[in-house]
Amino acid sequence: MTDQFDVVIIGGGPAGYVAAIRCAQLGLKTACVDEWINAAGKPALGGTCLNVGCIPSKSLLESSERFVQAQHEFADHGVKVSGVKLDLAAMLARKERIVRDLTGGIEQLFRANGVTWVQGRAQLLAGKQVRVSPVGKKTTRDLSAAHIILAPGSSPVQLDSVPLQGDRVVDSTGALEFREVPKRLGVIGAGVIGLELGSVWKRLGAEQVTLLEAQDTFLSMADEQVAREAQRAFTKQGLDIQLGSRVTGCKVRGKKIDLAYQNGDGEHQAQFDRLIVAVGRRANTHGLAADEAGLLLDEWGFIHVDEQCRTNLPAVYAIGDAVRGPMLAHKGSEEGVMVAELIAGHAAHINYAAVPSVIYTQPEIAWAGETEQALRASGVAYRSGVFPFVASGRARALGDTGGFIKLLADAKTDRLLGAHMIGPQCSELIAEAVIAMQLGGSTEDIALTMFAHPSLSESVHEAALAVHGRPLHIAAPRRRKS
Ligand code: NAD
Repeated sequence: MTDQFDVVIIGGGPAGYVAAIRCAQLGLKTACVDEWINAAGKPALGGTCLNVGCIPSKSLLESSERFVQAQHEFADHGVKVSGVKLDLAAMLARKERIVRDLTGGIEQLFRANGVTWVQGRAQLLAGKQVRVSPVGKKTTRDLSAAHIILAPGSSPVQLDSVPLQGDRVVDSTGALEFREVPKRLGVIGAGVIGLELGSVWKRLGAEQVTLLEAQDTFLSMADEQVAREAQRAFTKQGLDIQLGSRVTGCKVRGKKIDLAYQNGDGEHQAQFDRLIVAVGRRANTHGLAADEAGLLLDEWGFIHVDEQCRTNLPAVYAIGDAVRGPMLAHKGSEEGVMVAELIAGHAAHINYAAVPSVIYTQPEIAWAGETEQALRASGVAYRSGVFPFVASGRARALGDTGGFIKLLADAKTDRLLGAHMIGPQCSELIAEAVIAMQLGGSTEDIALTMFAHPSLSESVHEAALAVHGRPLHIAAPRRRKS
């Protein structure tokens, strides 16, 4: 028997589940197929982000930050605490509760919106058919749809030279589950995941956290000034960041891991108790479509799509981590909404020039738009304005004064081209810049806007004023009056 839907979505992560909800809101008969089985052996919606990614990592980042504050920062506020102890089991249980609540929340949203949740592994067949193999069952179920949205997500890249091994050599999922704090932690890859998870275990008491990064440049995707400030801050926190280092081999002997790597100085050996492999993610497209479906992939295995997420097949769209662009949950969700609108016959598009990126370390790092080095390289004339948090009253009250905000504006039109931040609550502050970019705003627009005092949001205001050489709470370099 074939079930007939207006839309079938493959994948229930932030891209797929949001697409499903929006399709249902638009009156389309919608099914979302997902194969995720959680640690408790139950099917769960939410994909990597909710189950083993953004949400559990942010939970541990928050908890570990509280642990550091209680030990080292409360006293400065005149709050005396003694005997601060880590209850790792409670911390992990809290994280699991948050994941359970949120994934259950999506199930409820599906029910409330009338989305059919189909559990199992889906494969795209020819002729807008989807075959579902329910987990643990031999029978299959065929779904037929007027429109199909592929949102299969991504999985951690594995290194041939460093195979995963039990709870010793793990990927980002395993790194959220250590039942004890490793003494010596190695991390391969100083990207977003390496920095976030390396920070968690350093804060929780790891004596040594070494990040081995293949590139010679730290955080090459970020603005250079921000990357320099971040490297300084992380090194001060005790993260040992080794750039230009390529791992060549790994041996696990009981509880010890011997790692061989090369850098400009030659061959090295290092010993760790645990090792996290965080060298990027790849699209989950293997086996996603039967050969006869004729789905076009690019040379890296991403699904080939146009600006509006159309694949080469009529009425088949693809969104999220499995298509070009940054692997970010919010980018996938917005693509899901756009595609739902297109299917419903509405006009829709995404402004890919204003996608916020955030690294949830301490200090937080966030950016959107062009970096200063990219503007320089492309010969665009620009002006920049920088405001350091040390001059913010609110940052002082928080006791969190490291970092700055930098805005980059077109020298002719003053249009906001880029925003780069490192410091307190930058994951929230970046939204101010993204809204300005989305509205085609200028730094003068931000300068003419009123912000609450005292708040961190004023620092964005000050950076905008600094673009025009007239910040109020730092001494501006002398310039002609404007
Ligand atoms: P990443 O691309 O951010 O970082 C991987 C790093 O590993 C890179 O710096 C790369 O140069 C390095 N690398 C690659 N091969 C290596 C090797 N053999 N030896 C040493 N270093 C090597 O990838 P990630 O940290 O694994 O994250 C995966 C994806 O998930 C990213 O696209 C990221 O944006 C996303 N993510 C986002 C967030 C967030 O938004 N805060 C959090 C986690 C993950």
